[in-house]
Amino acid sequence: MTHHVIIQEIAPLTGNVYRLRVDRPSNYDFVPGQATDVALDREGWAEETRPFTFTCQPEDPFLEFTIKSYPDHEGVTAQIPTLAVGEALLIGDPWGAIRDEGPGVIVAGGAGLTPFIPILRRRLRAGTAGEMTLIQADRSWNDLILRDEWHRARDLRTVFVLEEEDRKGCEPGRVTRKLLQKHGVTSRSRVYLCGPPAMEEAVSQALEEIGLGEAQLVQEEA
Ligand SMILES: Cc1cc2nc3c(=O)[nH]c(=O)nc-3n(C[C@H](O)[C@H](O)[C@H](O)COP(=O)(O)OP(=O)(O)OC[C@H]3O[C@@H](n4cnc5c(N)ncnc54)[C@H](O)[C@@H]3O)c2cc1C
Repeated sequence: MTHHVIIQEIAPLTGNVYRLRVDRPSNYDFVPGQATDVALDREGWAEETRPFTFTCQPEDPFLEFTIKSYPDHEGVTAQIPTLAVGEALLIGDPWGAIRDEGPGVIVAGGAGLTPFIPILRRRLRAGTAGEMTLIQADRSWNDLILRDEWHRARDLRTVFVLEEEDRKGCEPGRVTRKLLQKHGVTSRSRVYLCGPPAMEEAVSQALEEIGLGEAQLVQEEA
């Protein structure tokens, strides 16, 4: 089912990342970690649906998305900075396999952080974020989405991995088997994984080498 929702707020976060809040249709429910298909209600764009994750809580009176814009793709996300309050978006029903399945290690690359935003905030509120480790990878310190929120959260163990910047307290390069093991991933861990396809592939391979079974990996289904 397609829902017309009105943009209530649009605010820049880090770099090319924007937070969008829209009306919440009545009886619209989702589980933290789920996504939906979103299109712009503009001529020529209504059929161009793209998946985006809810970053609000199911009990919030609005729906929120955290969207990274890619100006050079000439696709839907390049239009995000041109959207205005009062404009409509078209959203589908919620779907997706990522949800909080218990204590574990989150491995998030770039905008792949989004399914874990509502999951981590929920745990921070409940005082159970200490059961999670967040391994967040991006190009540079300033690209890390909501970095200060995670950094400030004393209970949450954070590991920031920067591909293009050497910075004290952060891991340089990419998420490798060695890095995962250094930060506590064993064959018995539960790992949550979301990121660009090439990263998900490389990390899945590393996890397989560590001996992690498929049932211990929480990931969006292809
Ligand atoms: C389940 C799920 C949930 C997601 N949730 C979020 C979320 O919450 N937030 C978020 O930011 N993202 C999220 N994503 C990723 C998001 O869906 C994509 O970033 C988005 O679809 C990109 O759409 P686009 O139209 O801007 O670009 P695309 O559809 O990727 O590309 C449009 C066109 O640009 C060109 N193009 C493609 N790649 C490049 C390139 N590298 N350089 C130059 N040109 C290129 C091609 O011609 C292509 O047809 C999610 C993805 C999934 C699968």
